[in-house]
Amino acid sequence: MSDKSVTKEFQTEVKKMLDIVINSLYTEKDIFLRELISNSADALERFRHQSLLEEKVFDDHLPLEINIEINDQDHTLTIIDTGAGMSKEELESNLGTIAHSGSKTFLSKLADNARAEVNLIGQFGVGFYSAFMVAKQVRVQSRSYLPDEEGHEWVSDAGGTYTISPCSGIHRGTKLIIELKDDAHHYADETTIKKIIKRYSSFVSFPIKVAGEKVNTVQALWTRNKSEIKDDEYNEFYKFIGNAIDDPTFKLHFSTDAPLAIKALLFTPQENFEQLGFGRTEPGVNLYCQKVLIEQHSKNILPDWLRFVKGVVDSEDLPLNISRQALQDNALLMKINRVLTKKYLKHLEEEAQHNPEGYEKFWQNFGIYLKEGVTSDFSHREAIAKLLRFESSASEAGKLISLPEYVGRMKEDQQEIYYINAPNRESAESGPYVEAFKKRELEIIYTLEPIDDFAFSHLGEFDGKKLVSADRADLELPELKEEQKEDADKPEALAADRTEALTKWMQETLTTKIKEVHISKRLEDSPAIIVNPGGYMTSSMERVMRAAQHEGFQEFSDKILEINTRHDLIKNLDTLRNKDEAFAREVVEQIYDNAMIQAGLLVEPRRMVDRSYRILSRAVKSEE
Ligand code: ADP
Repeated sequence: MSDKSVTKEFQTEVKKMLDIVINSLYTEKDIFLRELISNSADALERFRHQSLLEEKVFDDHLPLEINIEINDQDHTLTIIDTGAGMSKEELESNLGTIAHSGSKTFLSKLADNARAEVNLIGQFGVGFYSAFMVAKQVRVQSRSYLPDEEGHEWVSDAGGTYTISPCSGIHRGTKLIIELKDDAHHYADETTIKKIIKRYSSFVSFPIKVAGEKVNTVQALWTRNKSEIKDDEYNEFYKFIGNAIDDPTFKLHFSTDAPLAIKALLFTPQENFEQLGFGRTEPGVNLYCQKVLIEQHSKNILPDWLRFVKGVVDSEDLPLNISRQALQDNALLMKINRVLTKKYLKHLEEEAQHNPEGYEKFWQNFGIYLKEGVTSDFSHREAIAKLLRFESSASEAGKLISLPEYVGRMKEDQQEIYYINAPNRESAESGPYVEAFKKRELEIIYTLEPIDDFAFSHLGEFDGKKLVSADRADLELPELKEEQKEDADKPEALAADRTEALTKWMQETLTTKIKEVHISKRLEDSPAIIVNPGGYMTSSMERVMRAAQHEGFQEFSDKILEINTRHDLIKNLDTLRNKDEAFAREVVEQIYDNAMIQAGLLVEPRRMVDRSYRILSRAVKSEE
């Protein structure tokens, strides 16, 4: 040790900080490298700025870069930058005390809730001190850019003191020599170090070289001017950050200044890997602060239902308000989340408008997420609803319509938006539910996926119009217009008194299965139909819940059977029940089962088949 060396105690707060860093159970130790490289990049940036202002700077000829040297014999890792460097005083105040507000806040918050917050080291970093997660000893040799300064070395093993001594013959900038702890020897490995750099520091503006080779070769595209970026560059970038092999479907590149400074580059992939059976997609947008990764695959910056989106978000507001002020994360991240989500939805709307084919392809693959959004994200519900697409009675098979289109076509006296769920278009069209709509020339949306009805029931209404499932008991359709009536060729309905007796008897017969039997106002050609009472449950939703049913799940027995009293089967049933009640009851059971099947709900097949054979045998016999 030279005569001029001085040994000093760390400030109490630093001791506390070091204690946390060293003893933290935090497993993501890799971030120490990100923190140190960020410091180097900051110092390089500072130098670049100062060199423009100063007349003379020390070591003017040095290239601005970061070099990393690895020695796996000595188990050391050395990070060298040609940045602004530090004078003796700066070494002392920067590395011996905690002067900056960020780390201070971190500490004071930490005191409140020590354990819980430790993970935040990973998310926001504690800067230089994180070196001690992996270091037995750290030597910092630094030479300021100011011509009149001298070089110094700062050494500490985090034991409460540090020593500063003169160090001559060194270049401008800072050299950080880390002697790795025994359990951190694996960091003295080129592959490991390169991997960590690629992950966290790929976009740092200065070259980062490992054993002379530049590791950060991808540009931070999001910081560049849109007009200067070629499609190829976007595609390459997407492949890099999205770990993809194909080009993206859409890209959205934007920046905002107020209320937040954000630069974002968001990509929509081509394939939905979740749909392809690869398990749940992890969020794909990374959060950066001035090109340095803060959080990879952040769960906070977009809602979960946008987890298929890939990209980067960079906010300069982070270092001031968050990154260094470790804990006020939520409010700001939530703001970013809101801005991004809104922008992305607007972008989809524009794609839908200007690139309908592309949007339709997107919809086929990713529409499911938008439906998830409608059911789970109240604040963006209306905006997402505009982006939903469905087949409808007014669209050709396979062609899709939107809710705004539907509303634009609504009849003058139509108050509500109608939909019916079916496994496919054909069964929707041939089922009893759409008869009344056809007759009235009302458009009805076909919701062909089980989640659709959940989405619609969460949505409740669109553009002020209620969304109503056609299998509801309280469906109120506009009156038939004169020209729509065909009373002349319509068969007579069963007389009122006989109808009343018949419904009562049917209700008794089906007593455990349904709540009531009603006379239908909607049926044209079918004898009967199952409808659902008030509330939000539709047959399709019941189907899903039944499929997911747990032990002891009760069947929904509050259904209503509507009957068509003009239909021969119903009229003749009334006659039959007076002649052969037992057989008539079998017919009622069968009508119920058939209606349930048309509602897409399963019935007990063995009993149904046995019964239908008994009925068929009778029918065949009567033809003898
Ligand atoms: P922060 O980066 O949040 O300010 P750190 O504890 O990481 O906190 O660093 C403290 C200070 O030490 C920095 O603000 C900077 O002034 C100085 N410093 C750290 N690393 C370097 C470096 N490589 N070159 C020059 N100065 C540095």
